Amino acid sequence: MTTPSDLALVPFVSVDHMMGLVHHIGIEQMLIDLAAEIEADFKRWELFDKTPRVASHSPVGVIELMPTSDGEMYGFKYVNGHPKNTREGLQTVTAFGLLADVNTGYPKLLTEMTILTALRTAAMSALAAKYLAPKGARTMAMIGNGAQSEFQCLAFKANCGIDTVRLYDVDPKATLKCATNLRGTGLTVVSCDSGESAMEGAEIITTCTADKQYATILTDNMVGSGVHINAIGGDCPGKTELAAPILHRSEIFVEYPPQTRVEGEIQQLDPDHPVTELWQVMTGAAEGRRDARQITLFDSVGFAIEDFSALRYVHRAIQATRFFTNLDMLADPDDPRDLFGMVARAAPGAVG
Ligand code: NAD
Repeated sequence: MTTPSDLALVPFVSVDHMMGLVHHIGIEQMLIDLAAEIEADFKRWELFDKTPRVASHSPVGVIELMPTSDGEMYGFKYVNGHPKNTREGLQTVTAFGLLADVNTGYPKLLTEMTILTALRTAAMSALAAKYLAPKGARTMAMIGNGAQSEFQCLAFKANCGIDTVRLYDVDPKATLKCATNLRGTGLTVVSCDSGESAMEGAEIITTCTADKQYATILTDNMVGSGVHINAIGGDCPGKTELAAPILHRSEIFVEYPPQTRVEGEIQQLDPDHPVTELWQVMTGAAEGRRDARQITLFDSVGFAIEDFSALRYVHRAIQATRFFTNLDMLADPDDPRDLFGMVARAAPGAVG
């Protein structure tokens, strides 16, 4: 039986635990599971509390809080984005998250989310491509070969049947790292020396670069008809990856418009430029890809519901495993109103 004091212990998934869980489940299986979890939540989109993430910008980066609730559980993620960090030996993106019971307000899970964000972002990208990419797509260009890149490649393999990835990064060391890490995964990996060359024969183009500026990773003439673009790196005001003319030639799909209009590629467009919400494609209320010549664009910025799905998945997945420790992080006096007494009795030398 669960006692009130059991409820006060919060399972904590450390980085070590998360890595253990990934290997226990298998990374490709986890990318499939997470895509299914996100899809199920997107299909009940209207039920969720939704708000654009709360961002605190500085000249070098951003720190964001991403909350949501389905009425039963509440989740939030803390995440940063600091493109300069890699030059200092630090990660561009780090994160942790919390899941709580709406009924009691008690936290149910605290977890690292740097690895989990890479997994959920990759799962979300592949899920969008399932609805938007041209039929039978086998080759993906992967532009930007940093921390997210291998997760992206494996998610597209596991969920969409991609068998070849063509890598490009301005830093050849990043491409070498990515190619080395993907060895033995079953993917055919081609390292390229330009974005143009990476895109040769690619039906899907993923851009996943980090720079705090309006960058032009793809120019208009690089993008032929019929491709699907998975644009991940443009996710902050003043931080984009695609030349505006590409946006005018594309059918654009987004997570949550109030957030994407500020943070996504579409910040370059008029505020009323038509976009389609992905949840509507998933429920059948809106069309995904209509024909083979169309350019589809997933203008990904990352939305709180994806993190909520990932948190709930991890909460379930760790049950009956050793991939967590219980944290004593909620004060829990025997008499709920005697918080002071609990503190007083803990004084050195105090009697019982
Ligand atoms: P990272 O810093 O580890 O990797 C970025 C890579 O991009 C680096 O290897 C860098 O050399 C390369 N790059 C920079 N400019 C380039 C250019 N012009 N052409 C080719 N390569 C270039 O960062 P990361 O953790 O892999 O994240 C990548 C981006 O994805 C970031 O901008 C991050 O904010 C974003 N992101 C988005 C989501 C989402 O949900 N949409 C989630 C996580 C991260």
